[in-house]
Amino acid sequence: MPAKKPKKKTFPKKGKVKVEKIKVDKSKKIVEDVVTEVAGEDVVPLVKVMIKKANVSEFKLASSIKKEINLTRNMLYRLYNSNLVSFIRKKDKRKGWYIYYWTFNSKNIAYLAKDLKKKKIERLKERLDRERTSQFYICSGGCIRLDFEQATEFEFKCPECGELLQMQDNTKKIQELEVEIKNLETCQEPPVIARYARSTPVA
Ligand SMILES: [Zn+2]
Repeated sequence: MPAKKPKKKTFPKKGKVKVEKIKVDKSKKIVEDVVTEVAGEDVVPLVKVMIKKANVSEFKLASSIKKEINLTRNMLYRLYNSNLVSFIRKKDKRKGWYIYYWTFNSKNIAYLAKDLKKKKIERLKERLDRERTSQFYICSGGCIRLDFEQATEFEFKCPECGELLQMQDNTKKIQELEVEIKNLETCQEPPVIARYARSTPVA
């Protein structure tokens, strides 16, 4: 969901506004991707609320996303495990217990995004290596794809339908993996811009 932009007419040129919009959208996408990867997709709505304001009590956060307090805390701990949030606690003078106020640490997003990209490239390179060094066998019915060793175990017959397995020409797959790796290695992540994701928590 795109955040509503304030209707200001102070931007000098239309082109510039467009570029800004793209940057904000990219920043949002990076934040959402990273959060999904490290804490789970269900946490994204919570992060969208947290990005707008620092030091919000967990009760307010829970009501903003319309979830129970325990579930909200569980989400916050997941974010905390990846250093994406920090908290301060204050004693409620009337009730005598502590209330936790949470802040989203957007400066860690860029670091995590870089790390995730690195791991993804590593996984793809391992996969590419396997594709280059082994032979693969497929069922013409599309049930399965096995490497040489696995195919031997099943005597080159599909374990699902019994069809004879055929050696697959994986040249295209190799090319696709090479392109994907190259794209990831050469693309520069845009910096997560401040307007969407504030980097200094207000203490
Ligand atoms: Zn089959």
